Amino acid sequence: MNKNLKKSIEDDPCQRAWIEVSPSAIEGNTRAIGRLLTKGTSLMAVVKADGYGHGATTVARAALRGGARELGVATLKEGIELRKAGLEAPILLLGNLYDSDELEACLKWNLTVTLSSIKEAILCENLASGKGRNFQVQLKLDTGMARLGCDLEDTKDFVERIEQFRYVQLKGIYSHLALADAYPLAKATLITELQKNQFDSVMQTLSLPQDKLCLHLANSAGTLRSRSLHYDMVRVGLALYGYSPIDIDGNSLDLRPSLAVKARVTFLRDVPAGVGVSYGHTFVTSRPSRLAVVGIGYADGISRSLSGKIFGLFSGQLVPQVGSITMDQLVLDVTDHPDIEVGSVITMLGKDGEIFISPQQWSHLSGSIPWEVLCGFKHRLPRVVI
Ligand SMILES: *Cc1c(COP(=O)(O)O)cnc(C)c1O
Repeated sequence: MNKNLKKSIEDDPCQRAWIEVSPSAIEGNTRAIGRLLTKGTSLMAVVKADGYGHGATTVARAALRGGARELGVATLKEGIELRKAGLEAPILLLGNLYDSDELEACLKWNLTVTLSSIKEAILCENLASGKGRNFQVQLKLDTGMARLGCDLEDTKDFVERIEQFRYVQLKGIYSHLALADAYPLAKATLITELQKNQFDSVMQTLSLPQDKLCLHLANSAGTLRSRSLHYDMVRVGLALYGYSPIDIDGNSLDLRPSLAVKARVTFLRDVPAGVGVSYGHTFVTSRPSRLAVVGIGYADGISRSLSGKIFGLFSGQLVPQVGSITMDQLVLDVTDHPDIEVGSVITMLGKDGEIFISPQQWSHLSGSIPWEVLCGFKHRLPRVVI
């Protein structure tokens, strides 16, 4: 009996701090985004960085249930992890592979690779011919990001050479938007249109039966911005998780945040006025106060730059965080919240009652972006699927 009790606390993911993930929210968001698309456009769920911190396989399954047709990852390992979990949908590696062992692994695990140069295409052809198997690839174009992608003027040559290959199969051509989520809107619109025009003009120079190729350009922001950016597929990350990267009219889309970060109060102390709290004493009590120590810190993914700027949520009320956030713990001023006890669960990010604390709020305070907040949650926080 005692032994069982001990085991359960050891295994309890909600013992100190954890992340709750709602697959039904992700499924619903996928459907909501799907409703924006015309019939010929499919949805790729971008599940890189462990599904933006939510757990890649959980997200992938939920998104596929919600109508996503393909999955996008950044790295070889991420792709293999999904295959090992039994996912059979097409998977595109968005990063660049240059090593023939890595490319061979893609062939083995049936992962589609992104190519930016003919050099890698030749490697793929040689590997595939050695195995007598087809190798699916997509070509990336640089239309104005100066990251991955082949130069526009090399595209025609690339495609014509690939057409000569026996084993390499060109499945799609895509590019990536640099400013679709940016403000001011005028500049963002201008650059996005410029990228679209570049993409269109290159496509016109190709003498391929383009209905055989999957063309795609839009991330979440591009998807929400305009149908003219949708082409044959959209690659959606952030919106899938419930956050819009742009202000869309009246949030008509009805996205639901799919993650909450929670932690327990591990200690309470009462202190007089004039007491310095945490490293550096950046906060000094101005009245007799009750302080709650919460078992979560920057080693879990709550940036130290948020110190003294954020709130926890308890019973639908905001509770101020005070002093420096430390590696494993932070302090709340709970003087006005006498019902908070040791063991109480504090919502650090997410919804409690009517109040919602979003990754956008955090990123605004820390000079970051919501993408970084989400994938900043470390694996010390167990992911609990609800
Ligand atoms: C990460 C990524 C996306 C998804 O971006 P969101 O803004 O999160 O929708 C789409 N395409 C590529 C190439 C990416 O790397």
